[in-house]
Amino acid sequence: MATDPVCKMTVDEQAPAGGKAQFWGKYFYFCSKDCRINFRRDPQKYVPESAEGKGPEYDKSKTNESWRV
Ligand SMILES: [Zn+2]
Repeated sequence: MATDPVCKMTVDEQAPAGGKAQFWGKYFYFCSKDCRINFRRDPQKYVPESAEGKGPEYDKSKTNESWRV
């Protein structure tokens, strides 16, 4: 099981209701579309440890997540 970074709910990564997103080379799973939208809006707010030092590795060519809603 994975944890929704937005609301901290447990999400089944095999069938995440809100879909998944790849960010900073990691996958995040969401309980709902709303959580995914909130994450997209301000990902560093929800994943502060990735924001420190490393910074976002924004390689669009490697991102297979579509932010389509
Ligand atoms: Zn959620």
